[in-house]
Formats: sequence, C-alpha cells, structure tokens
Amino acid sequence: MAEKEKLGNFTREDAPEYEDVLQCMRCGFCLPTCPTFVLTGRERSSPRGRVAMARAVAEGKLPFSEAMKEEAYFCLDCRACTTACPSGVKAGEVMEVCRSQVHQQQPLPKWQAGFRNFILQKMLPDPNMLEISMLPARLYQKLGIQWLVRHSRLLKLGPEWMDKAEGMLPELHPPLRPQLPDVVPAVGEQRGRVAFFLGCIMTLMYPEVSRQTVKVLTHQGFEVITPKDQKCCGAPHLNEGDRSTTRSLAQHNLDLFMALEVDAIVTDCAGCGATLKEYEELLEEVGEHDKLTAFRSKIKDVSEFLAEQGLRTAGLKPVDKIVTYHEPCHLCHAQGVSRQPRELIKSIPGIDYRELNEASWCCGSAATFSLKYTDESQQILDRKLDNVQLTGAELLVTANPGCHLQLAWGLKQAGMSQEVVHISELLGMATPS
Ligand code: SF4
Ligand code: SF4
Repeated sequence: MAEKEKLGNFTREDAPEYEDVLQCMRCGFCLPTCPTFVLTGRERSSPRGRVAMARAVAEGKLPFSEAMKEEAYFCLDCRACTTACPSGVKAGEVMEVCRSQVHQQQPLPKWQAGFRNFILQKMLPDPNMLEISMLPARLYQKLGIQWLVRHSRLLKLGPEWMDKAEGMLPELHPPLRPQLPDVVPAVGEQRGRVAFFLGCIMTLMYPEVSRQTVKVLTHQGFEVITPKDQKCCGAPHLNEGDRSTTRSLAQHNLDLFMALEVDAIVTDCAGCGATLKEYEELLEEVGEHDKLTAFRSKIKDVSEFLAEQGLRTAGLKPVDKIVTYHEPCHLCHAQGVSRQPRELIKSIPGIDYRELNEASWCCGSAATFSLKYTDESQQILDRKLDNVQLTGAELLVTANPGCHLQLAWGLKQAGMSQEVVHISELLGMATPS
C-alpha cells in the first residue's frame, strides 16, 4: 500500500482529505443550522470557520493550534451542517478526524493517556469487562448509596460534570447481552431473518429498550439472531480521536455479521447505526470492497427497517397518548432517516401525534460534549425543552441512548412531566405480549 502524502501541518496518519476542506464556497447556508455558531456567534465555531481552519492547516498556513484542538472538540458532530450544505461539505466529519490529530500532535500527559487508552483500547472493546465495570454502579444504586449521595448534596461540591453524570444515570439493571437468546423465533408467519446489533449503552443502560426491539421485530414476523461475540461499534473511539481502534472493531464486527445469513443487520441505537454505515469508508484501505458494500446495505435502524418492510398493524393495541418525536442527529443528519420514525408512530392506533418544532435540532448531548461543556449543553437543551413544552405531549419519543439520557435528565431538572421513550418502547406498548 503506497504511503499517503503528508498534508500541510497535519500528520500522515488519520488526516482530513484535502478535497473535503476545499469544497466550501463560503455561502453561509450552514450557519443558522449550527448550534455552536448560534450560541457563540463566533465564525471559528461555525462549520464554515472550522473547515477554513482545517484548510489553512492542510495548506501549511496555520499550525495545528490550540484553537484547532478546541474547535475539534467543541463541534457537536451533529452533522446538521451537512444536511444544509449545497456543496456536500462534512464539517462534523472533518472535525472528528481532527480529533485524531489532537492526540498525535498534542499528546496528553502520560497518566491521562494511559487512562484514556485503557478505556478505549481495553475496556470498551471487551464486552465482558464492560459489563463487569457496571457492577459498582448497580451496587451504588441498590445499596441506597445513591439516595444518600443525592440527599447530602455532596456532588454539588465537586465539578459540575460529575454532578450531571451522576444525575443522568438511569435505574440500572443487569446487562441484556448475556440474557438475550442467540435466536428468537418470529411470531406468526415469518417474513425474514435479521441480526441484531446491540450497542454498549443500550445493553448496559437501557436493556428494556432492546428487549422491546426484539419483541417488536419478532411480532412483526422476523427471526432475530443476536451474535454474542459482537463488540462496540467504535463510535466512542471516533469521538475521542482513536480511529485505529475503531478500525479493528469494525473489522471484527464486519467478519462476524457477514458470516450470518440474514436479510438485514438491525440496530436500535442511532449512534451505532451511523458508525456501522461508515465502516465502508473507515476500512476502505483494507480492500474487501464488495463485502463492505454488502455490509453497508444491510445496516438498518429499527425504524428504517420496519418502515421499509411495512408495519403489520393488525392486532396492534391502541396507545392513547399525546406523542412528539425528537430526531437524533445521528439518525436524521448522519443516516438520512427522518420520515420513517414519524410514519411508524402515526400508524400506531390511538396516538395523537404532535410535530416538534426544530425536531432535528441537537439536544446538546453529543457523546461527552454534555459533560465537557455543561453550560453550552444546557443552553442547547433548554431550547429543545421549550419546544417540547409547546407540543403538550405526554411522551417524548427518540431513538438514541445519548439523547435519551440527556432529555430525561433535562426534563427532570426542569420539573416537566413528559416521559422519554425509545420508538421501540412505543411500538412495544402497542404490540401484544
Ligand atoms: S460549509 Fe457548505 S453551507 Fe457552509 S459555507 Fe461552506 S459551502 Fe456553504
Ligand atoms: S457538526 Fe454540528 S456543531 Fe459541528 S460544525 Fe456542523 S452543525 Fe456545527
């Protein structure tokens, strides 16, 4: 394989492509869609500004500076700018690649790098270790220590992110991966067979959501196979600038899932779905193009899959609720799945659907953004909650665990009564047991 040419002041490994930073014609269409630009009014925190900075680094006119590092992480990677851009500029993806440059050009102190590498390279790729790591948190809840900590207001003395992280923890249950049968047969007439990609956060924090996904899929006539050797999709690694671990996870998942004879590989996590759909680009230098293209075509978000197959509504129970829908960025902007969840929600009998103003505006979660930039995340979230309030909805439906955590926390803090549910849980309510 020929070595890549060095691009300006980027290192060779995991640098943006020059074409990707050249395409911007500075029209500004993206500006009103970018949450960080709208918040700050700062050009450098806009898609156009970020791409211009990356271009200057690529052309050797700017070093890979502290400002470049800040913008790489301050970008939510929400991809709203990509949806708006007439030139196809992917500012979020360029910033994601720049995070790898941060770790190459401005390495962390040794102990921090060691901790980061342990989490990204040892713990996250090992589902067993990941599941065991949640045991202390479950005990913390079960033994009543959480109650004491919350009532003592001890966490108010520490950094804000710690208080928020603790407040976001949902009630934890044993992880779903070891409990799910390898094969769950279709109910009634079989329409096909799917593999289930069970994301880490879903199995650890929202096992009930994924249990409902399996229930809905089987009641819709699909046999569900859950390979237990599956590993993290690699999204946290992309987010933290470790693309090489993402590639090794991608290769593992690619080989594992492509050995199965299934019609589709379904996930209920928008973040996982977006990353799985990007394996084709991530592994392009490895070859195996046909296999990667076939894999890409099989990856489906659960709502995308059910809408494509046609929801069997006969026998569904009415759900008499007022419902609205928040679009996860990694579903609508990264995967272009926007119409399908609404169609499914509206086809459930009894639902009074209310459209959410700015439904595809980020909720401020964006992986670790909500903990690194607590003030900015709160402002973005407040805008979302104001819109939710206007709908008069009882249920706020979404389709990504990061959004779920952030919205549920925000609603509780604001004293609002709406409950957050995943679209699979909503479909599960309508599905007979
Ligand atoms: S990123 Fe796209 S929308 Fe934004 S200024 Fe450049 S060309 Fe226009
Ligand atoms: S990905 Fe989102 S936060 Fe980042 S530049 Fe684009 S719109 Fe702004």
